[in-house]
Amino acid sequence: MTSMFDHPTPPSVKFDEKLVGKLVNFDVREDIPDQWRNTPIEAFIMSQNFGWPVQTTGQPQVLIATCIEFRYSMPVPRNYAYVIRRASGRVIGSEFSVGYTMAKGVKYLLLIGHNDCGMSKVSSVASDVVDAFVEQGWRRETAEEYVRKHGNRHAIKDELESLKDEYLRLRKIFPRLKIAPLFVCLYDSKLYLPKWYEELDRALRYEVNFEVPDDLIRGLP
Ligand SMILES: [Zn+2]
Repeated sequence: MTSMFDHPTPPSVKFDEKLVGKLVNFDVREDIPDQWRNTPIEAFIMSQNFGWPVQTTGQPQVLIATCIEFRYSMPVPRNYAYVIRRASGRVIGSEFSVGYTMAKGVKYLLLIGHNDCGMSKVSSVASDVVDAFVEQGWRRETAEEYVRKHGNRHAIKDELESLKDEYLRLRKIFPRLKIAPLFVCLYDSKLYLPKWYEELDRALRYEVNFEVPDDLIRGLP
């Protein structure tokens, strides 16, 4: 017998063919990249993966950006972090919010992607989204036009690739913000390091442009 409390087990990154060999475990504290040691990034990883309590100071230095996904809940006590949750976890369109949190002392951005993201299947739910708007009183044609436009903006092809693209985009816009791209497994909420991170970070370390081009800023949505 099923009840409203039954729900399917969330999928694991370990059984996702797309992700095989593309994530690095944090088995011990030493697996955390050197540049994140003794920072709030390390504290978050230790909390999420090893259950360490998060120390709060009341002066948050961390902004966490992740997906609206209901199967992921973060270990975030009050006074610890600012949070942006948007479909797919990308910050695009919320750059002003990032600016606000930086003005309030944020120095670190945790950018967290996840497996089995609904935004990688937007085309299959697009007609349901249109129906949802129509039920609200939108004209069907207008709703379809809106969903075409915004569905494309929100859709991603691959969760890990989209995390990389957003990481690279944000590095250019906020070159002094320390950004940690992480990937969370919906099955057990464990964080992983994308395999591309360390090599990419090494390659780009000396290529940072601290003068952000006007065009890049004016082109933000
Ligand atoms: Zn998602």
